Amino acid sequence: MKTRYSLGNWKMNHFKKDVLHFIDNFKPQSHCHVQIGIAPQLQHAHYFQNREIWLGAQNCSQYDSGAYTGEASACSLAAEGFHFCLIGHSERRQYFQETNEICLEKIKATQRAGLYSVYCIGESLEQYQAGQTQEILKEQIKSGLDGELDFTKLLIAYEPIWAIGTGKVPSLETIEQTLKFIQNCTEQDFQQQVPTLYGGSVSSQNIQSLSEIACLNGVLVGGASLKAEEFSSICSAL
Ligand code: PEP
Repeated sequence: MKTRYSLGNWKMNHFKKDVLHFIDNFKPQSHCHVQIGIAPQLQHAHYFQNREIWLGAQNCSQYDSGAYTGEASACSLAAEGFHFCLIGHSERRQYFQETNEICLEKIKATQRAGLYSVYCIGESLEQYQAGQTQEILKEQIKSGLDGELDFTKLLIAYEPIWAIGTGKVPSLETIEQTLKFIQNCTEQDFQQQVPTLYGGSVSSQNIQSLSEIACLNGVLVGGASLKAEEFSSICSAL
């Protein structure tokens, strides 16, 4: 059975007491083919070290070291036991002006460090309504990846921006079609198969039906990953 991924993006949420409460109550009944991961705020990373779940970062610098105040290098994250790094989350693209080209530099940095990169792509509501989803995704794949990458250390997370934190989820047919489209793009452009996750308002309510999508290789979960019981149910359902 292929590995499925259940990754939590905690964004800038939780204080120490919340993290400890989560750790005490997070008890997924998941199988060995489900790889669970959490990307907390960096100052909480040590609570997740040496556990079975993967430790993730929400971002990293494209540079390996130097005078870049406020940044964290991928190689220093790897040295602290991180397993993966999100790259190009729509909030990074929107609020921190990250382009596809910057994402590619960051993916290269994570690969130099030996981390998995979770490359986030997705269209805005306007683009969705204008029928431009595939065009946007194609460009994000073409410009954000290149043939020199180690594709065994890459995951793609399809996150329609209009589904993030809104409770709106595309239909199962749309998600399936779009994941297949992304998988075809990486096969055509780079002759590589890349595990493809869905993200955007995943919850314990919809995970059962999402997990029936055969080509879904996992989920990237924001809000619902903050609560131990909720995220346990999501991981168990996969
Ligand atoms: C996210 O921010 O990556 C995300 C998927 O958020 P949510 O699950 O809250 O929609």
